Amino acid sequence: MTMSSSLFSPPALQAMRQFYNSGVTKDHAFRKQQLLTLKKIIIQYEQEIYKALYTDLKRSKEETYATENGLLLAEINTALKNLHKWMCPRRTATNLVNLPSSSVIHYEPLGVVFIIAPWNYPLQLLLVPLAGAIAAGNCAVLKPSELAPATAEIIDKIVTEAFAPEYVKVIQGEGAEVVPQMISSFRFDHIFYTGSIPVGRSIYQMAAQELVPVTLELGGKSPAIIEADADINTSARRIVLGKFVNAGQTCIAPDYVLVHQHVYEKFIAALKHTLRQFYGSDPRQSDDYGRIINERRFNTLVQYLEEGDIVTGGETDREGLYIAPTVLTNIIPDAAIMQEEIFGPILPILPFSNAEEALAVINKNPDPLSLYVFTSDRSKEAFWIRNIRFGSGCINNAVWQFANHHIPFGGIGNSGKGAYHGKHSFLILSHAKPVMKTPVWFDPSIKYPPFGRKMKWFKRLIR
Ligand code: NAD
Repeated sequence: MTMSSSLFSPPALQAMRQFYNSGVTKDHAFRKQQLLTLKKIIIQYEQEIYKALYTDLKRSKEETYATENGLLLAEINTALKNLHKWMCPRRTATNLVNLPSSSVIHYEPLGVVFIIAPWNYPLQLLLVPLAGAIAAGNCAVLKPSELAPATAEIIDKIVTEAFAPEYVKVIQGEGAEVVPQMISSFRFDHIFYTGSIPVGRSIYQMAAQELVPVTLELGGKSPAIIEADADINTSARRIVLGKFVNAGQTCIAPDYVLVHQHVYEKFIAALKHTLRQFYGSDPRQSDDYGRIINERRFNTLVQYLEEGDIVTGGETDREGLYIAPTVLTNIIPDAAIMQEEIFGPILPILPFSNAEEALAVINKNPDPLSLYVFTSDRSKEAFWIRNIRFGSGCINNAVWQFANHHIPFGGIGNSGKGAYHGKHSFLILSHAKPVMKTPVWFDPSIKYPPFGRKMKWFKRLIR
């Protein structure tokens, strides 16, 4: 590990503050150049990135490209294409009482931002926010997850090679140790955290001490709903892909599926067929099927296998950190698998006979990060969208909303706070600074005391 360059040191953070204060990062030309540098180096290190993701998560190159470096490049390209437009001060309307003033919103960087990422998509969850931070004109400190060490190492190498240490810096180490140290000894201007709910809560508390604003991209239990009128085979394919990509270790994966009882058997048959089609009769041999990140997670996941009937899958190999793609039915009441985020390749299927029954299950874990509804009926789409509070979702699809940089991605309530991707990354890491300019040639006395009988005019002008 190149730990020497990436250990936490307060003077290194002070140097970043000074660099930010110099104003260099605010220029359009500077931001554009840094985005181009990031793009170039991500392309240059493509093979090393694949190697690192294979080491950490046994991912195929195709899966890595679609979910990590390819997705990152799309975000950088979007920022490059739109940077000038995003940065331009935006003229906006002025209300009657303030006329003839004019109003403009300026987008200003926040300063030195701290980006903390988890291990499941360890490259893009750190570097997509970085692209947003660069576009918005900030300096950034990056904390990769220690649980994906090969990826942390390649990120450290890339960042050290691409950027001056006072502009973008990687800090490695145990999160529980190094993150509190950093937050307590340096006032960041924003913390952008992706990870679990308990750690997110603790970071929010630490940030509150200094009133540091936060973005929290958290997890939760994201339901999929299969209505009786859904296209069953297509739904099964899309759910299998969304659930079993990265061996189920995806924050927006369908955590469990609620299936209308009329199509329950048919859906389970379609799942079994699709799993075989995608990963063969022994998924262990498939190049397209990943592994569990570590033994601790493996142990938690194998316990879930006891909590229902295994319809397909269920094979495990502790040494290889392998758990077969598994479908569970007849889940025991109050099972842990229906209370905790599964975050692994085990898919509980629950039948429902009416919407109230399905809603009751979902409401046991409120504010899911995502919701996926499979139906051919528009009124059912509308019902689920209106009646469940969720971060982002799809109709007749799963997880792909994450890869659409035209829409914001984020959670709500328990699943997070704030959203990013595309222009939203720029916005969340900028301060929208409104300025109203008022000419001096018009200064009506109605605005000044003595107010006397001006109420009638106030009512007309102000409301
Ligand atoms: P985690 O919270 O354990 O770790 C995330 C980061 O926090 C790591 O960099 C780690 O070093 C640091 N950290 C760990 N303990 C800490 C502590 N006590 N104080 C400060 N920092 C600490 O999360 P994880 O297990 O790596 O990731 C899995 C979770 O992340 C799941 O819940 C998943 O749903 C969620 N997630 C959310 C998104 C999203 O976009 N909303 C994306 C991926 C993962």
